[in-house]
Order: sequence, then structure tokens, then C-alpha cells
Amino acid sequence: MSKQTSSDNDAIYLVGGGIASLAAAAFLIRDADIPGHNITILEESTKLGGSLDAAGSAADGYVMRGGRMIESKYLCTFDLFSSIPTLDESKTVTQEIFDWNETMKTSSKSRLFRDGHQVDAPKFGLSEKHVLTIERLELEPEGMLGRSSIADQFDGSFFQTDFWYMWCTIFAFQPWHSAVEFKRYLGRFTHMVSGFNTLSGIMRTVYNQYDSMVRRLQKWLEARGVEFQMNTRVTDLGFQRNSEGYTVDRILCDRDDHKEQIAVAEKDFVMVTVGSMTECSSLGSMDSAPVLNGKSIGCSWNLWEKIAAGQPQFGRPGNFTAHIDESKWESFTTTLHDPTFFQLIRDLTGNVPGEGGLIAVGGTGVEARESREAESNGIVRPRSATQAGD
Ligand SMILES: Cc1cc2nc3c(=O)[nH]c(=O)nc-3n(C[C@H](O)[C@H](O)[C@H](O)COP(=O)(O)OP(=O)(O)OC[C@H]3O[C@@H](n4cnc5c(N)ncnc54)[C@H](O)[C@@H]3O)c2cc1C
Repeated sequence: MSKQTSSDNDAIYLVGGGIASLAAAAFLIRDADIPGHNITILEESTKLGGSLDAAGSAADGYVMRGGRMIESKYLCTFDLFSSIPTLDESKTVTQEIFDWNETMKTSSKSRLFRDGHQVDAPKFGLSEKHVLTIERLELEPEGMLGRSSIADQFDGSFFQTDFWYMWCTIFAFQPWHSAVEFKRYLGRFTHMVSGFNTLSGIMRTVYNQYDSMVRRLQKWLEARGVEFQMNTRVTDLGFQRNSEGYTVDRILCDRDDHKEQIAVAEKDFVMVTVGSMTECSSLGSMDSAPVLNGKSIGCSWNLWEKIAAGQPQFGRPGNFTAHIDESKWESFTTTLHDPTFFQLIRDLTGNVPGEGGLIAVGGTGVEARESREAESNGIVRPRSATQAGD
């Protein structure tokens, strides 16, 4: 099967229906003048949006795997959504986000609880040595950091600072995570650091990101003729080697349990989102814990492994897939049927709903001491940290 395009333009196949592909499709149409009907998005599930999910009802409960925090330097996001209207077309999504964040500015009075006490605008508590290490990490080339972990770079006292509690709960870092990743986040979010203790500068969409971003973008793309092929799991790509490197000549997929091949012509393009934070995730319930799935439940990891097998220029998925215990995460959504808990949180934090945000709960002195002892015995334990945002 090959896509028949009705213009001189090439066919473009985007694998995965998350925000990466949706945004790519919109940029191709808006900025590269590619007609929408030349673009096909292949998505293994029945819904677009990938990690940006949210669903449910007041009666049955709501579920969303994560909530997104954004900030004023999400320049590509704001640029893209300045062309995408809200469903009622009263304004652009970007305008809606800016208007909303004028009304509701994030200013947490309870970013951190330690030893059971609220810490208002916590100090970072960094020693000179910690600051020097942070500065060194900012400057040191990634190649030199290699496969080292954050714990390899700092001594144990760093992981007891208020800075670390706030850092690890906003970005979901653990001491055993990559020092390179830590460095990248430092670089990306340095301008936000002064507001870390109150979350100032954090912006939000009005609704969850499925309703605020995905639905609107989907409507815009549909109106321009983009084809969405759902229930279509891409299982492999066929490669041709030529003088310029590698070219994809076919896409292999399982569609509604049938195996199919899409022929890719020489002038066509294939763009693949590999890896995913939510691929293979599972949902628990009030009565059952979520099941820890292997990497084969979805196809994102398997596809990347197939593409990269013997072809290291396509990355090393094993860095993720072989370390599930060190990279897995858990989140939960609560649906409350009366306002008691809501009011308790409001009174405890001193913030009206929507004004606060992440609340990190730091360990007690005893736990901190135990952690240090465990580390000196070569055991690295996760610290108690709640509500990771990213
Ligand atoms: C809990 C949580 C909190 C987060 N917080 C933040 C935050 O505060 N700020 C922020 O900027 N970001 C945050 N993120 C990250 C952000 O959500 C992701 O970076 C982004 O949504 C990834 O989009 P994507 O399109 O690259 O991938 P995904 O959203 O993972 O989409 C991939 C899509 O491809 C499909 N797919 C995969 N493999 C195949 C295949 N072989 N064939 C067909 N379809 C396939 C999947 O079904 C999925 O729909 C958070 C993520 C999580 C999980």
C-alpha cells in the first residue's frame, strides 16, 4: 500500500499520535506548506495525545497519568498554539493560556513540608561545595560525564538539602539518574531556579492538556485533511542502504490484528517518535495495584530496539529498557465526592486551589540519617518525595 497524494508533494508518515507527531504535522502544514492530506499519522491506540491523556466522569472518576507544567520559555509550544483556535474559536490556545495565567499566578506557600512542618519559601540549603559542583556540571561536556549518576557527582549531604527536595519533585529525579540528564535540566530551567521555592513562573493550561491542547490541535489537523490511522501499530521499518546513509522503503504494521506493509516512495518522509514515558503503563484501581508491564505491551520500545539493532546511529534504547526498576514511576488521580479533603489541603497550604501546585514531603531527620547509613553500606534508597511534575 502506498499513499496517493493529490499534489506534487511527498507523502509524510508520522509514527505515533502523541504531541510530537501532532505538532510536527501542524508545523509541516503551517510553515512548510505541505498539504494536510499528504500527512498520515499512524497510532497504535484508539486515541490521540499519547502521554497527554485525561478522561473520565464525575460519577466514575477521572484518570490522567500526568499534569503538565509549562513556563514562559515554552517558545515552540506557544508559537504552535498561536495558530490553533479553541473549540469555540473565540481565541487561540496560546492566548487562552496567557489570559488564564494572568488570572491565576502560581505562588505556593507550601512548596515543601519537612519533618511534618510547612516550610514557607524554603532556602536552598546548598553548601559552597554543592554550588561549585552544580557550576561544574553546567560547564562540563556531556562526554566527560559519561554514564555517571547524580549520586556520583555529589556527596550524600546534597540529597538532604531543600534544593534537592524541590528539584527532584519538580522534575522526578532520583539520585541514581543520569548526571547528563541533570545537567540538561539545569541548562533548560536555570532561569526558573530563583522561583523554585514558590513555583513562581510555572504556567498551566486551563484544562488538562488533552482538552486544552490535543483536542484543539486534532480538530485543526482534521480540518486540513490529515489522515489518522488508529489501531495501527508500527512493528518495524524496512531500510535501504545508499550513498547518503539509510532510507526507509517500507513501514510494517499490525492494523486491527492484520499485518500490513506501507510502501514508502523515494521522495516520501517517515518520522518516528521512539520511546515514551507512558508506553506499557497500566492503570490500577481502588481495589487493585497497577501491574508492572514488560516493554512488549506497546510497540514503542520494541520498534526502537528493532530499528537500532546493529545501527547505533539510531540510539541505544537499552539504556532505558534494561533499567525498568530505576526508571519506572507511579502517579495517581483522586476524584473526590465531597470537598472535605480539598478544604483541608487549602487550609494546610494557605493556597486557594490552582494557586499552589506541587507539594514535596521531605523525610524526617531519622529517615535522612537512615538514608545516609544505607548509602554508606552501598544501598541507595529512594527518598520520600511526592508529586513529581515532569
Ligand atoms: C506524569 C508525567 C508528567 C509530566 N510532566 C510534564 C511537565 O510538567 N512539563 C512538560 O513539559 N512535560 C511533562 N511530561 C512530559 C510530556 O508529557 C511528554 O514529553 C510528551 O507528552 C511526549 O510526547 P510524545 O509525542 O513525544 O510521546 P508520547 O506522548 O509518549 O506519544 C507517543 C505516541 O506514540 C504511540 N506509539 C508508540 N509507538 C508506536 C508504534 N510503534 N506504532 C504506533 N504508535 C505508536 C503511542 O501510543 C503514543 O500515542 C510529563 C510526562 C508524564 C508521563
